[in-house]
Amino acid sequence: MEKKQFQAESKRLLDLMINSIYTHREVFLRELISNASDAIDKIYYKALTDDSLRFDQNSYYIKIEAEKENRTLKIIDTGIGMTKEELENNLGVIAKSGSLAFKKENELKDGYDIIGQFGVGFYAAFMVADVVTVISKALGSDEAYKWESEGADGYTIEPWQKDSVGTEIILKIKDNTEEDQFGEFLEEYRLKEIIKKYSDFIRYPIKMDVTVS
Ligand code: ADP
Ligand code: MG
Repeated sequence: MEKKQFQAESKRLLDLMINSIYTHREVFLRELISNASDAIDKIYYKALTDDSLRFDQNSYYIKIEAEKENRTLKIIDTGIGMTKEELENNLGVIAKSGSLAFKKENELKDGYDIIGQFGVGFYAAFMVADVVTVISKALGSDEAYKWESEGADGYTIEPWQKDSVGTEIILKIKDNTEEDQFGEFLEEYRLKEIIKKYSDFIRYPIKMDVTVS
């Protein structure tokens, strides 16, 4: 399969994420949950003006699934999803994120503090994962796609099977340190702590499921 390249700007931010210092890594979850919430908002607002769509509160939620054995953390949402083009344009191009110009300006002055304070977006996933997979099915589409990247060397997109509309982000949590610095992101108590700290205001239910083995 053909590997597509990130734009130069995206590569720069990716490098920043991959080499980020310890204390800021946890914000990856804030970023992914806020994207999931935004995606559900989009369906919600569409339903307000589109009579063929009904927004049933119970069908819209965010789910966090950790599987310790295979070191995967999933962030699943029942939001609006992404088409193939949207996966390509939104995840492959960092300029989307409005705060980038600000981040660039302040990067040198404040160093990595920018990561903790401001939305750094989807790429924050690379602070804790060495493989990021996004499986998505857009509202109104019959097809689903899988986007996958191991970081700075690009990404692939291919057709995939997914029945329901929405997005599933699968993080392969890093396992590259003797003391397992990243293992905390597979622990239920730790995930709950991070969600409480950063995502308490999210107005859709956040469900959690941790499998030990
Ligand atoms: P921002 O949220 O500031 O736009 P991000 O880097 O967090 O920047 O996300 C980039 C874009 O990718 C979003 O604007 C959205 O279009 C798309 N996206 C990311 N996550 C999801 C998701 N879970 N569902 C649908 N679209 C998403
Ligand atoms: Mg975002």
